Amino acid sequence: MIASGWRYWDALPRAGPGARGTGWPVALPLPGCRAWGFLLQVKFREEAIVRVCVLASGSSGNCTFVSSGGTRILVDAGLSRKEIINRLNAIGEDPRKLDAILISHEHTDHVSGLPFFAASLKIPVYLTRDTAPAIDWGEYQARVEPFQAGSRLAVGELEIDTFTVPHDAADPVGFTIRAHGVKIGLVTDLGYIPDSIKFHLRGTNLLILESNHDLEMLKVGPYPWAVKQRVMGRKGHLSNDVVFEFIRGEMDTSTSLLVLGHISEHNNHPELVRLSAQQALAGRELFTRLVIAEPRRQTEVFEL
Ligand SMILES: [Zn+2]
Ligand SMILES: [Zn+2]
Repeated sequence: MIASGWRYWDALPRAGPGARGTGWPVALPLPGCRAWGFLLQVKFREEAIVRVCVLASGSSGNCTFVSSGGTRILVDAGLSRKEIINRLNAIGEDPRKLDAILISHEHTDHVSGLPFFAASLKIPVYLTRDTAPAIDWGEYQARVEPFQAGSRLAVGELEIDTFTVPHDAADPVGFTIRAHGVKIGLVTDLGYIPDSIKFHLRGTNLLILESNHDLEMLKVGPYPWAVKQRVMGRKGHLSNDVVFEFIRGEMDTSTSLLVLGHISEHNNHPELVRLSAQQALAGRELFTRLVIAEPRRQTEVFEL
């Protein structure tokens, strides 16, 4: 039977001995028919799903997986090579298929596994010109792709914007990543949120943001006073209160998924972060989904 350029098959083979068909009509467009374009679009959309998993977040290690279609990257590599491989395998990803690693800054919790991991897999490492020499590469030779903070990078299907963040490192950056109409923001390790970063985070669908410490817990906590000052300083880390104000006042309504991470194990608690952020979201009547990235376990895989 032929109708409007589509060919109908009444019996797709069914599995199993003696099975003759599904009983459901199956339609495929004839060669050259415009309907192929539609089917290809559907297929393309299927493969274009953006997948994100925060493999680790916090002072014991930071690493996030992002993929779209055939492109797979890591942002930061602050776990051992073995642990990165284990956590990638746990979400069904093959480390050998990674296309690149982006590095935000040289602090150990973001690069501890980088030299060995990147050298053994021979994948390019994108990082700023001043960050590269600040890393102890040891005996390993990685393929370094330096960039200027503020520049735009293209890695496969991913369009990546980089921007300076206020933090006590050589040349720290945050990232937004765009693919197939989805925008992801990754901003951890910063002392405050300047307007320039708020601008970059406009239109973000998934935002991974630091909510590092509770101010009261930090003040009475175990850190020496100099370290406390550093954490609270303009080049330190974001407190729950600062994140509360950001969510309540300026987070874009486009942000349908908010992942809060880089939570201090000594000066914060995941439930405090959740309560504070939930209050801020409720105040704006936003229906943003809130996820807390706990320090020692990976999040679910987010598909957008
Ligand atoms: Zn960090
Ligand atoms: Zn840092």
